[in-house]
Amino acid sequence: MTSVISADHTSVAPSPATALRCRNCGATYPLIAVHACAECFGPLEVAYDEQVLAAVTREQIEAGPHNIWRYAPLLPVGQDPASRVTLDPGFTPLIRADRLAAELGITGGLWVKDDSANPTHSFKDRVVSVALTAAKGLGFEAVACASTGNLANSVAAHAARAGLLATVFVPSDLEPAKIVNSAVYAPRLVAVDGSYDDVNRLTSELGETDEFESTAFVNQNVRPYYAEGSKTLGYETAEQLGWRLPAQVVVPIASGSLLTKIDKAFTELVKAGLVDESPWAVFGAQSAGCSPVYTAFAAGQDVVQPVKPTGIAKSLNIGNPADGPYALDAVRRTGGAIESVTDDEIRDGIALLARTTGIFAETAGGVTVAVLKKLVESGQLDPAKETVVYNTGEGLKTLDAIADRVGPTHRIAPSLRGAREAGLIS
Ligand SMILES: *Cc1c(COP(=O)(O)O)cnc(C)c1O
Ligand SMILES: [Zn+2]
Repeated sequence: MTSVISADHTSVAPSPATALRCRNCGATYPLIAVHACAECFGPLEVAYDEQVLAAVTREQIEAGPHNIWRYAPLLPVGQDPASRVTLDPGFTPLIRADRLAAELGITGGLWVKDDSANPTHSFKDRVVSVALTAAKGLGFEAVACASTGNLANSVAAHAARAGLLATVFVPSDLEPAKIVNSAVYAPRLVAVDGSYDDVNRLTSELGETDEFESTAFVNQNVRPYYAEGSKTLGYETAEQLGWRLPAQVVVPIASGSLLTKIDKAFTELVKAGLVDESPWAVFGAQSAGCSPVYTAFAAGQDVVQPVKPTGIAKSLNIGNPADGPYALDAVRRTGGAIESVTDDEIRDGIALLARTTGIFAETAGGVTVAVLKKLVESGQLDPAKETVVYNTGEGLKTLDAIADRVGPTHRIAPSLRGAREAGLIS
């Protein structure tokens, strides 16, 4: 356990993190920038002192800021406010969606957790704030990432705020808005002629070179810290429900990290005594253009076979998902399910959510809403139980997906006669 002294020299709460632990073989490592086990190449995860976690109280959290750092007592870094690299993401709206529930036949209560309401308009601000805070604490001055779009947006913005050198790598065929939303923060923006999986392989190789030796790659050498940021989406859901767990959650899957960490957050809240224990089921959402985890789930397999992604849900287009097996485990262990939906169903999902809730989601949100509908219709999700569906990104970033479907319903001359001819008045 490390004690931290804040900028004004008052002592602040210690980090509850004790080590990095291999999720495969259990080997432990110090809290440094490493993400794979030297024994078995398994992924490393932050391990905590459970007694320290158990001492955290609701009052302590509620006294914190209205952003993810209110959960600092449950995170590996950022206990000292002065140490944070942050745009202060989080505390996004949890919206009661009665009209959507009525259309889908959900009677147990339906909520949309709208995480597009973050500084760079996706849930990635949560993971980036935690990863870059860890990176700065470990002495890095340069940061980088491989991204399907939103991660690059967030890394570039956080680096601009903190004055870090950022190099972000993205597939060159991304949506134009995702490119502009990175480029505007003036990082080194590298468009790679290949898929996300190609980009990811390239950045792993670059991480081994002298030029990138002292760079923190948010989804590589500091990935264990990055991943912990996703837990805040689970914590927030429970706190906003009045410190209780929802019975069912529907979560999009790209690498599978977010889904795994929402499950981990609920487990930790129970262990820490911050919520009463109650069963929850985790459901996963993928697009038909990239559904390796769905395919493994449907076939009853533990191994996720890589695929070549296609389709409009580009932010979820990871063909070889690092946390796929762990996502499968969380879904099966909690009695959930995974579904996949076509591009047309994704467009319908975006339109349905917008029309019934006033929330304009990017394609990833369309995937999740369309999967929710499919899960209800197929009887896999219980409509009588309280359900939370996650919108993780902003519709303005993927306008092309829906632009052909919507537009002016009338076009008229600027006169009452014009309005009359269009049937708006008689
Ligand atoms: C990255 C991303 C996800 C999923 O992330 P994983 O943790 O890799 O599964 C979901 N939605 C959006 C909009 C994203 O950008
Ligand atoms: Zn190991």
